[in-house]
Amino acid sequence: MAQPQPAPPRPSELEFGGPLGTALLLLLLPASLLHLLLTCQSGPCSLLRPPPELPPVSALWSPRAALLLLLWLGLQAGLYLLPLGKVSEGMMLRDKSCLKYPINGFQCLGLTALLVGLGLAGGLPLGNLSELLLPLASAATAIAFILSLLLYLKSFTVPPSALAPGGNSGNVIYDFFLGRELNPRFGFFDLKYFCELRPGMIGWALINLALLLREAEHQGGCPSLAMGLVNGFQLLYVVDALWNEEAILTTMDIIHDGFGFMLAFGDLAWVPFIYSLQAQFLLNHPQSLELPVAGAICLLFAIGYYIFRGANTQKNTFRRNPSDPSVAGLETIPTATGRRLLVSGWWGMVRHPNYLGDLIMALAWSLPCGVKHLLPYFYVFYFTVLLVHREDRDERQCLQKYGLAWREYCSRVPYRIIPYVY
Ligand code: NDP
Repeated sequence: MAQPQPAPPRPSELEFGGPLGTALLLLLLPASLLHLLLTCQSGPCSLLRPPPELPPVSALWSPRAALLLLLWLGLQAGLYLLPLGKVSEGMMLRDKSCLKYPINGFQCLGLTALLVGLGLAGGLPLGNLSELLLPLASAATAIAFILSLLLYLKSFTVPPSALAPGGNSGNVIYDFFLGRELNPRFGFFDLKYFCELRPGMIGWALINLALLLREAEHQGGCPSLAMGLVNGFQLLYVVDALWNEEAILTTMDIIHDGFGFMLAFGDLAWVPFIYSLQAQFLLNHPQSLELPVAGAICLLFAIGYYIFRGANTQKNTFRRNPSDPSVAGLETIPTATGRRLLVSGWWGMVRHPNYLGDLIMALAWSLPCGVKHLLPYFYVFYFTVLLVHREDRDERQCLQKYGLAWREYCSRVPYRIIPYVY
């Protein structure tokens, strides 16, 4: 009979400022979401002025918006369960088993697009969504809190080996924030994997489309070039993420982080409502864009995408099949775990080339909003902080995993994200 596996060791170092830091984040993240949405809708749209006045409760909360959001989650959950696409195995767990995941996010995006297209042809007033963003964001925040509470309680019903390495500190607030259980599931339905790329990411593209349609209505039928670029770039990002869905099975979010408030709020509330800030800004503060400037922005986006996709594909191919002809010739460093580290190609340029590409794309899809306001660039600042912090977390985990080999990699590839700068 298989021996029960012990829980992962309690984290020796607490992240995000420990219980106090995570308690603050529980308040600060929803407050920032509300503040940014309100600022974006205000006339001056200034991040440097005091927060705009709170609107009446009826503007912040609506049962209709909450119902719409639940229907959206239900639709995406139903699509997730359809027997489409292939089924892949995740990385090996502590108990030596591997979970199975449906790789059908791209098909779900296609079916959602079909349903939305049919709805639009039948007169669905999708543009009205742009007036529901505040109550939708409040509902998403409420759902994230409720879901995290249920996940926290559920984590006490699973064997200790199912806990996440970072989220079982024993402190209620800290564990609620980081997530205690690594892969909470109901049968084949994996809650974390479902939330990572589907309702929030596809929701982001849908909100952008609604904002574009509303802008087109205001302008007599045609959206602005700036709105078109923002929608096009961000749609490509969402499509790319879902096309390469299998790649998330090897990310820190799936392998290391538990499912708690951090990911639930991030996936369901932050991504759709904060990542669509540029389109929200353009609806409220129209910008004109000259063709040569638009061309230069497209070029910048293309460079970012080339680096981002090239780096991610190279590492994923190498991890799945190191003898694949596209990566077999790259120089590597052996490690004590049997795995090797790439030290040439994209991963020989900096230690996180994929983050560099992601940041260039973030800048490119903020530039169509002009340079007079700071708010459309909030994403670039926030994302820089997120990726620098994420890179630091990842480096510490890699040092633990690979020891001396990781030190050698760092000395041979000294820059983290930007060559010769950082
Ligand atoms: P990464 O895809 O960057 O993976 C990091 C892991 O890669 C390490 O833990 C290590 O794992 C492996 N690795 C590191 N260096 C090497 C090397 N030299 N050779 C081989 N393997 C190496 O992790 P993320 O999950 O952070 O990022 C995935 C993508 O998602 C990125 O493009 C990122 O920009 C994007 N992202 C986007 C976010 C958004 O909100 N838009 C948020 C977060 C990420 P191991 O050795 O165990 O394989």
